[in-house]
Parts: sequence; structure tokens; C-alpha cells
Amino acid sequence: MDNNASIPAASEALAQGSPSATKADALRQLAVSGSGDGSIFTQLFNNPFFTAGFGLAGLGAVVRYGSVGLRRAAGLVRQRLLVDLEITRHDKSYNWVLDWMTAHYQNQLAPSGPQKHVGALESLVRRFTPGLHHLQIKTATMRTASGSEQTAFSLVPGHGRHILRYKNAFIAVNRERVGKSFDDKGQPFETVKLTTLYYYRHIFEDLFQEAHHMARRSTEGKTVVYTSRNMGWDPSGQPKRRRPFDSVVLEEGLSNRILGDVREFLNARTWYLDRGIPYRRGYLLYGPPGTGKTSFVQALAGVLDFNIAMLSLSQHGLNDDLLNLLLLNVPARTIVLLEDADAAFTNRRQRDADGYSGANVTYSGLLNALDGVASAEERIIFMTTNHIDRLDDALIRPGRVDMTMHLGNATEWQMAQLWDRFYAEQDADGDGKRRFLERATKAGLVGNVSTAALQGIFLYNKGDVEGAIEMVDQLDQTRVGQ
Ligand code: ADP
Repeated sequence: MDNNASIPAASEALAQGSPSATKADALRQLAVSGSGDGSIFTQLFNNPFFTAGFGLAGLGAVVRYGSVGLRRAAGLVRQRLLVDLEITRHDKSYNWVLDWMTAHYQNQLAPSGPQKHVGALESLVRRFTPGLHHLQIKTATMRTASGSEQTAFSLVPGHGRHILRYKNAFIAVNRERVGKSFDDKGQPFETVKLTTLYYYRHIFEDLFQEAHHMARRSTEGKTVVYTSRNMGWDPSGQPKRRRPFDSVVLEEGLSNRILGDVREFLNARTWYLDRGIPYRRGYLLYGPPGTGKTSFVQALAGVLDFNIAMLSLSQHGLNDDLLNLLLLNVPARTIVLLEDADAAFTNRRQRDADGYSGANVTYSGLLNALDGVASAEERIIFMTTNHIDRLDDALIRPGRVDMTMHLGNATEWQMAQLWDRFYAEQDADGDGKRRFLERATKAGLVGNVSTAALQGIFLYNKGDVEGAIEMVDQLDQTRVGQ
């Protein structure tokens, strides 16, 4: 039977509405035409174009399912064999780990002691991963007391992938940006992901311990100075060596009186909290420039093992909101040093006079910030001013300023103390000191020159007792308030 001819014939019979017997025949014909040797499928499969297309489609499906399968298998292996650890930029350990990586590579690149035998796999990995491929520079600037800027650079691993070898394990490190947004400090969101074999998962703990110790060592015996940047506090430059407490000579007994008060406050945490009193204490140091106000707070932070967050109220760009934000987010164990406290009051006068405040922090802004939300952590604020007369009584109220101290020009006692700090060796019998004091008293300099000016001539005549005595007359030119 001709199958090609039978299909239209049968369809025609059905379409023409032939009697049921004929319809059944037609259907049978259709059924028969779909099977047997000369069926439509046989013909289709005999067609080379059809089989080629079908073959390609089949191959495509195999490849597609195969790759999905492979991906799943790889995912499963990854899940079973590897372990990931992710650190976000906002975690404290983020910078520790980056610094640790840099130091770790430096150690690896400069091997000490006898060279180890390097296996084939390791030499291959070393060849392709000779070190950190992408580095990023971290620049920190800080203003010194003399107003000059100091800049420090350090290198940290940049964005992208790095491979680390640590305690026999290889660690893949991927530092990447997350999205395009920035945090409220203007820094991009970032993560560092460490991946290693599940078998070596315990090394993460060792790595973090090392990174933490390294970070602690870098600040041990040092004072971190924070300054305001990008709406927050940022360490300004490298931590500074602590300033010895007795290197700042205040009027007899004053340094220890302040130190005693701060210590008492620090020991009274539960007393404050039990009574619902905000756990904070404010100090005001006032006096002419160069009498050691800033230096004393630095030395105090050193002896208490605190850091310092420094801010000048006359600083450009500082306004009430920012001041409030900064005081609410002071880093732990940090003394706040607010310099030029009078600026806020000067602004008020200026604003009252012409309806506009040239500078940014206002009087009420300062009071609000000082009264701001109390935290369970201690908050110690030192304010300094050269112009006590410009301050308002509202500032000197418990909780805002609890203790006010005058730091004046050098008294005879301070002169003698400073002399000893510089010439104890060269002037063991004290004869030079006696002559120096005699001359300074005769010239009417006691109480009339700043300790900074006095230190200036001692520094100039380092180790030279006679030179310092000769220069008393020059000290006369720095005399103030005459
Ligand atoms: P202020 O903050 O009162 O203007 P600083 O603390 O900035 O003064 O001091 C300026 C410089 O003078 C610093 O180098 C500091 O070491 C020195 N100096 C000022 N007063 C003293 C002091 N009482 N004892 C030791 N050094 C002092």
C-alpha cells in the first residue's frame, strides 16, 4: 500500500462525512499508515536533514544538562571540601587582616634562616603566585602640635584575588566591593573572603589571633590620635609614642590632682550607673597659649592607656550636627579634646550681632552635644580655651564641665622643674639652675613667659647650661601680658 497516498485519502473520507463504516476504515488506514516498515517515522529518520537536526538538538541537551550537572557537582564538592569566611569592611578585624596579609607576605618574601626544601606543587604555586599582585596604598596624614602635617604610607592588598600560604594551607583571598553604594563615612562597602580546604578550617582561628596580636602590638605603649574625617573619627597617622606624664610641668600638684580625679571617675562606673547619672566628666583647661593644655591631655591619655579624639571648635566644616554625631560615636577608651571651646560662644555673639554666624558650631549646638545621649561607656571630655572670659556660665555646670583649671605662665617652681628635666646631668649641683632663676626673677620673667617659650630656649641650648643662662634676655622678648 502506498502510505503517502493513503493519508490524504483517509482524511478526505473523514472530512466528507462518509458513513460510519467508511470512517472506521479510514481511521484504520491512518493507524496502519503510522506503523510498519514504511511508516512516517521511518521515513523521517531516513531523512538526513531531520536526523542531523535531531542529533544536534540531542547533543545540545546533553551539553546543557551536563554542564548543569557539573556545576552542581562542583558546588557540592566546594560545599563539602571548602570553607569560606567573609569579613565586611565595618568589622574591626577587616583592617587587621589586610595588615596581617601584607606583613605575612613580607615575611615570606624575605625568608630568614636555612632555606626549606620546596615541593613541586609549592614551587608551581609560588611561580604563579609570587606575592600580592594588586596592592593599595593607605595614606594617613596628621597635624602635629606645631601645625605642620605629617604623612605616613602603608601598603595593603588591593581589590581582587590573592593566594596565601599559611601553615601548610593555601588560602584564596578575594577582596571586593559590594554594590556601588557608600556608607555614611563615604567609604564603599567591601568584603574580604578567605577560602581554604575544610580540612584546614582551624587555621582561620590562628590567623585571626595573629592579626589581632599584630594590631595590638602596633598600638602598645602608644596613643592613637583620632581626628574627624568623613563624618566620623579616623586615626590620624600612625599611633604616637606615649608622652611621659611628667614631661608636662604644670603648677605644683596640679597634674596629679587632675590625674587623681580622672582615676576616681573611672573607678566609679557602677556608682554613676546605679544612680542613673550619665557616666561622663568634663574638664576645662584655660590659660594663655603655650602653657601645656594640649600636651597635658596627651600625657594624661598616655598614663591612663587611653587614646585621644581631637577636635577644634573653630575647625572649618564643623557644624552642630557633626559635633553631635562625633560626640555620640567616640571610640572606646578615648579622651575627647575639644580645643578653642570659646569659638562656639564667639559665634553666638557674632550671630546675635549680625544674624549670621560666620563659623559653624553654635553655643546651643555645643551644649546639646555635651548633654547628648549618655552611653554605658565612660566619656571624658577636656575642653581648652585661651579666653575664659568668652565662655558662658551655662557651660560650667556639672555634667558639662565638672572641673575648671587655670594653666598659667611659668612660675618659679615650673622653671626649676623644666630646668631639671633638661640639665639634670650637666648641672648636678644645681648652681646653673640657681643663676638662671636669679636672672629670670631679676628680669621680671617669673609668671610672665610661657612654658612653651621656656622649653624653646632649653631645646635650643641642648646640654649647654651657660648658653641657656645667657639667653634669659631673649626670653624677655617673649614675655606676655606686660
Ligand atoms: P597650649 O595647648 O597651652 O597652647 P601646647 O600644649 O600646645 O600648649 O604646648 C606647646 C609646646 O610647648 C609643646 O611642645 C609643649 O611640649 C611645650 N609646653 C608648653 N607648656 C608646657 C609645660 N607646662 N610643660 C612642658 N612642656 C610644655
